[in-house]
Amino acid sequence: MNIHEHQAKAVLKEFGVAVPRGFPAYSPQEAKKAAETLAKEAGSKVFVVKSQIHAGGRGKGRFEGLGPDAKGGVRVVKTPDDVKSNADEMLGRVLVTIQTGPAGKQVNRLYIEEGADIAKELYLSLLVDRVSSKVSVVASTEGGMSIEDVAHDTPEKIHSFTIDPATGVWPTHARALAQALNLKGDLAKQGAKLLSQLYAAFTAKDMDMLEINPLIVTGDDKLLVLDAKCSFDSNALFRHPDMVELRDVTEEDEKEIEASKYDLSYIALDGEIGCMVNGAGLAMATLDIIKLYGSEPANFLDVGGGATTEKVTAAFKIITSDPKVKGILVNIFGGIMKCDIIAQGVIVAVKEVGLKVPLVVRLEGTNVELGKKILNESGLNVIAADDLADAAAKIVKAVKG
Ligand code: GDP
Ligand code: MN
Repeated sequence: MNIHEHQAKAVLKEFGVAVPRGFPAYSPQEAKKAAETLAKEAGSKVFVVKSQIHAGGRGKGRFEGLGPDAKGGVRVVKTPDDVKSNADEMLGRVLVTIQTGPAGKQVNRLYIEEGADIAKELYLSLLVDRVSSKVSVVASTEGGMSIEDVAHDTPEKIHSFTIDPATGVWPTHARALAQALNLKGDLAKQGAKLLSQLYAAFTAKDMDMLEINPLIVTGDDKLLVLDAKCSFDSNALFRHPDMVELRDVTEEDEKEIEASKYDLSYIALDGEIGCMVNGAGLAMATLDIIKLYGSEPANFLDVGGGATTEKVTAAFKIITSDPKVKGILVNIFGGIMKCDIIAQGVIVAVKEVGLKVPLVVRLEGTNVELGKKILNESGLNVIAADDLADAAAKIVKAVKG
């Protein structure tokens, strides 16, 4: 689960992290009022109007309907009235960034911050390293730009080290950070403190990613978190009802929300072949083989081991509700899950939502004969397949003609 930048900053602030003062705003009036409050209470003379969407690259993003010369999704302005007019232009408009995809995302809220005096932009992130079962810290002096670009162009400028959750942050980690970010003297000390605070927030809240880009050095030599992006381990969310409250479903894929209600592991992808598979490994193999046969999967979907007819029906509905889906591949290995349950689920779902695209079904395992019989006698236009390669070849052929 992701949260907005302003929420992430509020969480970090609880752990003592230095962030600029700011207020979220949902209307131009609120935005102006936020700026006036910042001016009065903090003496701010520069304000930053930041689009709050669950995607990065906002600064370089473009608003739909505004010319190419218009300012992007993060704007630095001088007066509360400018804050208001910019807010007016930004709210309700679709912002397209490298991370939103071409469809972009509608900006429904803004964050109004006091402007910061930037001397240097750095990059710092923490993430779960599944290979070493530790927390990985990634740091670079090349902040402010996309870290993917830095990794591509100047990989030697990205440094990383891991922190063992059994022992936590050690002085050696602080030294590694100072070296990676080229922080000296008091800034190195601030870096050490910041690392401990970020690590505390990361572990206490069960985050799986926390990215600060940029972390800045201000004109008066202070480290300040200027942007924060964070996501939580969804398997640990039950421990954090306060974080769950921060969820903004308008930012999420509707199909993924629906899938989560049925406890289905579903991830929307960009391709044309909808997949219903049991087992994450088999689901990945299915995505691979669809690509191998020359097409692209529209989703990852693991219906799990103990799926019921109801769950299969829900899964099928989610797949067919995606207008990009030009064909469906059901690939089930019946172990705990029985093939006849899948067959019944498919039939119930097709009867409810109709079947407007080709459907290839490959069943194997427990009750496979019964499952095939149910499908054959259903009168549905199902293309049967014998194995994974056969199934992929058939669905790609059915879609591509
Ligand atoms: P992102 O583009 O979605 O990653 O949004 P960021 O919050 O990182 O903002 C993009 C860029 O805007 C930053 O890298 C800064 O260069 C600039 N920016 C953000 N806040 C301020 C500020 O307070 N003052 C100045 N001068 N620039 C800022
Ligand atoms: Mn950023």
